[in-house]
Amino acid sequence: MEWKRIFFAIFILLVADAIFFSGVCCFANDEWQLNGDNTGLSEEEEIELGRKVDEYLSRGCHFDTDAELNKKINDITQSIVAVSERKTLPYICSIIQSYSINAFSSSCGHIYITKGLLQLTKNENELACIIGHEIAHLSLRHASKFYRELKNVFSQQNNANWDEVAALSLENHLREFEAEADTKGVFYACNAGYDPNGLPDFLERNLDIIVAHNGLSGIFGMGYYAEVEMRVCKLREFIATLKGDW
Ligand SMILES: [Zn+2]
Repeated sequence: MEWKRIFFAIFILLVADAIFFSGVCCFANDEWQLNGDNTGLSEEEEIELGRKVDEYLSRGCHFDTDAELNKKINDITQSIVAVSERKTLPYICSIIQSYSINAFSSSCGHIYITKGLLQLTKNENELACIIGHEIAHLSLRHASKFYRELKNVFSQQNNANWDEVAALSLENHLREFEAEADTKGVFYACNAGYDPNGLPDFLERNLDIIVAHNGLSGIFGMGYYAEVEMRVCKLREFIATLKGDW
């Protein structure tokens, strides 16, 4: 099994290629084992896996050290965690000094937002929805589910082209995971007192910029514009079913 190679490829796809709002960061090697439960990894394993991602990122990234800004994003993070179904992870939110436009999370509860994305947000509602989206990935255990599926695929196809299968599985699941994290994320934001329209507002206003930064290099290629438009449309439909005083 070449798990280290597979997960390294996935990790690079998600982080270096800057797929907007990707949250399924995995980085593992041969010692990782499935537990036979329906999530693939125990919480302890998810935390250890996420810490490997954090270690890797800490070697290659510079983080914003502005104490006030870090307090603000972590206060928002904790307010969202408080209304989520998974409060047990050691959540923390960091800002990466990069002009790329992205947000993602490692499976130990570490949420990363790039400075480029942060500068495009207009208010706390938008920021809360983006953070809500990342917390939703963690609460829905997407990294663990994706890990389980890839391991199953490769255990059945020993001679499969690793990179192709990993990329195909990622493409199939990315849409499903993103859609789940979008609705769950704005639901959390709404329950924490923020306007859930923050996410579709942000995506709609910055669509051209997002596509220019991520569309051509991301997994959706030239269809990225339509993908983001579809996300906005589905979010508006979902938000119309929510009740709140935002
Ligand atoms: Zn996502």
